[in-house]
Amino acid sequence: QMNNATLKAQLGNAAWKLFHTILARYPDKPSVQERNTLSQYIQLFGQIYPCGDCARHFQKLLKKYPPQTSSRKTAALWGCDIHNKVNERLSKPEYDCTTILEDYDCGCGEDEKEADR
Ligand code: FAD
Repeated sequence: QMNNATLKAQLGNAAWKLFHTILARYPDKPSVQERNTLSQYIQLFGQIYPCGDCARHFQKLLKKYPPQTSSRKTAALWGCDIHNKVNERLSKPEYDCTTILEDYDCGCGEDEKEADR
């Protein structure tokens, strides 16, 4: 059994990976429904995140910096910025957000082309 700090860090890595990957695959031109879905997903993620202290603090950040859902780039940059707020609180280095979309390529770009056919 690994120690609590290691387990908490692993959970954070996995959660952030999924979080940023979802934002990097979000539509360029989302519909109203897609925008609502993303907003709700992020709010619920903040409520259900299993480290209680983290969740409480993240909910405060969401109030101060509400999710930006108008486009893929906007959403991905918002996600990068809010992760940087968490980094700042934990005294971790600031992440360079300029290549955020490339950084979280899920290898599923072909799926969109399939859907267009
Ligand atoms: P992580 O922060 O887990 O990041 C993983 C990888 O993502 C990094 O190696 C880097 O490649 C990349 N990355 C780093 N910054 C960014 C960014 N801004 N945008 C995109 N990619 C980036 N831990 C606590 O101890 N206290 C807390 O209050 C707390 N709150 C959290 C709240 C949430 C919502 C989440 C998801 C996690 C929280 N954590 C908290 C965990 C913490 O954020 C880290 O995941 C954990 O400390 C491990 O850090 P890490 O250095 O491995 O990198």
